Amino acid sequence: MRGVSIFGATGSIGESGFDLLMRAGGPDAFRTVALSGGRNIARLAEMARALRAEIAVTAYDDALPDLRDALAGSGVQVAAGGAALIEAASRPADWTLSAIVGAAGLPPGLAALERGGTLALANKESLVCAAPLVKAAARRGGATILPVDSEHSAIFQSLGSDNIENVEAVTITASGGAFRDWPLEQLALATVEQASTHPNWAMGQRITIDSASMFNKAMEVIEAHEFFDLPPRRIKVLVHPESIVHAMVTHNDGGTIAHLGPPDMRHAIGYALNWPDRRPLPLPLLDLAKIGSLTFREPCETRWPALALARGVMAAGGAAGAVFNAAKEQALDDFIARRLKFTEMAGRVAHALDRLSGQPGFGESPSSLSDVLDWDAAARKEAACPI
Ligand code: NDP
Repeated sequence: MRGVSIFGATGSIGESGFDLLMRAGGPDAFRTVALSGGRNIARLAEMARALRAEIAVTAYDDALPDLRDALAGSGVQVAAGGAALIEAASRPADWTLSAIVGAAGLPPGLAALERGGTLALANKESLVCAAPLVKAAARRGGATILPVDSEHSAIFQSLGSDNIENVEAVTITASGGAFRDWPLEQLALATVEQASTHPNWAMGQRITIDSASMFNKAMEVIEAHEFFDLPPRRIKVLVHPESIVHAMVTHNDGGTIAHLGPPDMRHAIGYALNWPDRRPLPLPLLDLAKIGSLTFREPCETRWPALALARGVMAAGGAAGAVFNAAKEQALDDFIARRLKFTEMAGRVAHALDRLSGQPGFGESPSSLSDVLDWDAAARKEAACPI
């Protein structure tokens, strides 16, 4: 029986992964090693019971008593905190879904890679912050990394066995998020509630707001650069409000292969779960006649300054990715806490990059997890709103 683990099981991606495991036979088809969550203890316990997990881990020490109570008599072990997440990720499993949100997903992801097996990577922050560490851990553990972000899964599927050398460009599409058609002068007034509503995808709040600001797309451009070893000039972004074409790969002979699918993350997660095979998934098939037309346009960089910041990050290399992500997470925290306007987030990130780019070692890739965490902490400090 295949051993599986989900880190971030109680989130939007984690729920989709859980749904796929349950529909594919649940505990009769998979040996669930570890499930992790954060504050949603009731749901974590419910999932752990349903899949008969070996261990359930909450990221927060103070939530352990509740988790222990919720799983009393179930036979599921319980644990809490960062070290417990790493220990759980080190337990032998064939397939691990990395679905924690933010840089917090990096340590368990690295531990899973060191241990080997397949890492289905939704946590884009891992590659943005620490691609060399992620790749080195995969090499040491003999692990396979499969993309779960829908655009990267689409590139992966469109590439097939083609040589990346023959790829002229990849195009990642973006829905444009909540404010794609808002008048520019109104963006400064955008509220957290408005930014947390996505026109096409049902996702966690943080990535939904990042979609409205295009920080999510900026992260994905960096992720594609790292995942596929593509030079930045070969990565393009197009706004595609229908969210049906997830990515396109243009070859040097002029042929472009596009990947289409309904906006449902279970496709990309299911593909990674069944890879290298394809199996039926509980998803509606695409009906293009019903959709009628697919439209594309260039992104406006005045509306979405995050895209230009991403190009700067790729050009700088070194610690820029870790700084960019942490500064973005801080700016997002401040927007959600109503300390910052929607349009001020990019400025805070630019400020942190600018301040830290002069620091010794900025141009060198972080050589350890603690190096990444140091840059992460420094970036959060620089990006934080003065109180
Ligand atoms: P959610 O916010 O919905 O879920 C996040 C998960 O991580 C939850 O299980 C949450 O626990 C847990 N968590 C939160 N903070 C911490 C922490 N500090 N330490 C450990 N665990 C924590 O996120 P999404 O599912 O939307 O996104 C997860 C990842 O997947 C992100 O990296 C995102 O960019 C990426 N992704 C998401 C897509 C989507 O459609 N949602 C699409 C493509 C990529 P709890 O809720 O119990 O507190």
